[in-house]
Amino acid sequence: MHPDTSVVRIHEGFLELVFPRRCIGCGAPRQDLCGSCVKELQLQNFRSRCGSIPVFSSIQYGSKASRILLAAKEDGVKKADDILLSALAHSLHCATRASGIRPALVPIPHSKQALRRRGRNFVGEITDRMATMEGLPVRNIIRHNRRVSDQSLLNATSRLGNLSGAMSVIRHCGRSCEVIVVDDLVTTGATLREAVRTLETGGFHVIAAVTALVALPLR
Ligand SMILES: [Zn+2]
Repeated sequence: MHPDTSVVRIHEGFLELVFPRRCIGCGAPRQDLCGSCVKELQLQNFRSRCGSIPVFSSIQYGSKASRILLAAKEDGVKKADDILLSALAHSLHCATRASGIRPALVPIPHSKQALRRRGRNFVGEITDRMATMEGLPVRNIIRHNRRVSDQSLLNATSRLGNLSGAMSVIRHCGRSCEVIVVDDLVTTGATLREAVRTLETGGFHVIAAVTALVALPLR
């Protein structure tokens, strides 16, 4: 064994003792993602609707997917980011295959409160990575007009009211108007609905929405 290799192994063993590895989906020891979670998180072709807009998603939201989303958004765990990125890219492939065109990607921005709390713009970052992989442009054109409550604490009716008129576009449609809306998760569809309304008001043609995760059935 090369001396450098043994040093690396001792170092890894030390890290394992101090920071034991846990599956990010279920907490099982000694691995980043266990076999059971790999199986449950396999990419599928989910298709739902938000008004007249088709929504493409790849992983059903449940306890494991929820832990992975939290690990990515709140703790910046790279493995969790990568899982969600591949799910989002899969959803995008389904959307572009169905539409036959290559549109710009529009990420849904986090509220200012969420940005302050997390210290990162998760959906924006993951959209940028996907756009680079796919060779598509990104348009950061949606902004929040006012303070909104945390959607996860509200029921479906309250979510719609919470977001009604909450977003606007920074600039109206220029040369190419076809866009795909990007978000991490769709639950009631209230956020996507408000984003689509906002973009259409600005003259954009929203051909689809893509998310990594979907809570089924959509309420
Ligand atoms: Zn697991």
